[in-house]
Amino acid sequence: MVRDVVIIGSGPAGHTAAIYAARANLKPLLIEGLARGGIPGGQLMITNDVENYPGFPEKITGPDLMKSFREQSVVQGVDIITDDVNRVDFAKRPFTVWTGEGDGATAYQARTIIIATGAQARWLGLESEAALQGRGVSACAVCDGAFFRNQDVIVIGGGDTAMEESMYLSGLCRTVTIVHRRDEFRASKTMQERVVKNPKIELVYDTVIEEVLDVSKGEVTGARVRNLKTSEVKVIPCTGFFVAIGHTPNTDLFQGQLELHDNGYIRTKPGSSYTNVPGVFACGDVQDFTYRQAVTAAGSGCMAALDAERWMAIHDAH
Ligand code: FAD
Repeated sequence: MVRDVVIIGSGPAGHTAAIYAARANLKPLLIEGLARGGIPGGQLMITNDVENYPGFPEKITGPDLMKSFREQSVVQGVDIITDDVNRVDFAKRPFTVWTGEGDGATAYQARTIIIATGAQARWLGLESEAALQGRGVSACAVCDGAFFRNQDVIVIGGGDTAMEESMYLSGLCRTVTIVHRRDEFRASKTMQERVVKNPKIELVYDTVIEEVLDVSKGEVTGARVRNLKTSEVKVIPCTGFFVAIGHTPNTDLFQGQLELHDNGYIRTKPGSSYTNVPGVFACGDVQDFTYRQAVTAAGSGCMAALDAERWMAIHDAH
């Protein structure tokens, strides 16, 4: 059986693409993931309160929001498989994607593919950081900064992302302390100048995080840090701890099959979801290293479904 469309990924982008494709009578199959590249439901499954997704004046939790996305897909008749795509062949049409491995692999063929495999925030890897995720530890200032209005926060990192997150937080928080392991930032000179001039931002160089405090209280109260040059250990008090050391797009599957940016994100034609392979579309965080929000991911999922439907109407009768 050759399907009209197979969608890979079940975050806001994948489900929105699925809902639009189902309503266009494309009978989509959505492969929602299992363990590779995140979990079914995507990044919002690891956050608590979402206050900026339109339509929910009372905040909603990330898992509840994604449960609603999934229910809406089911209501619209989307077929959902809980598995990972482990291999793809975009070299010939119909396209093929495989779940499972070796003899147990299952192939699915489709006239169009929509990739919505998202990205993952990079973390420091500390147990205390993991234990306090969603309780003061975050990887997204735009998402969670407002929870720390007039409070003291720490930002970890030294690249453009860390500078941008710090500038954003300085508009909301009482103080922002950037902690960086080296003696200079990697960020562009312009970004650095803006940060250095900002009276709310303090810079701490040559310093690593030993522990995020306080797991026993179930909330962030500060960070124990160590200066790499002097070995001095001290606690910087804060209620918010923002890790801004970058994101990894889930694109290892597509290496050699699709054109990627140097940073690993899928390259799409500006203003659309078209990749360099006609009939393969990409949406959400897997192709967006600028906005990275649930609402922009959902919007681009809608674009991908409409692009796929229109592309089939022109090139490849159903
Ligand atoms: P993702 O949500 O990353 O979903 C990707 C999907 O692809 C997952 O279902 C995964 O299982 C699947 N997948 C990956 N590889 C495969 C594979 N090989 N086979 C099958 N499936 C695969 N945004 C907001 O707007 N508001 C917020 O408050 C907010 N808070 C956040 C808090 C945190 C801690 C984080 C990390 C992010 C937050 N974001 C927030 C950002 C938001 O979560 C992302 O922008 C959004 O989830 C991106 O959606 P997506 O569909 O592109 O990808």
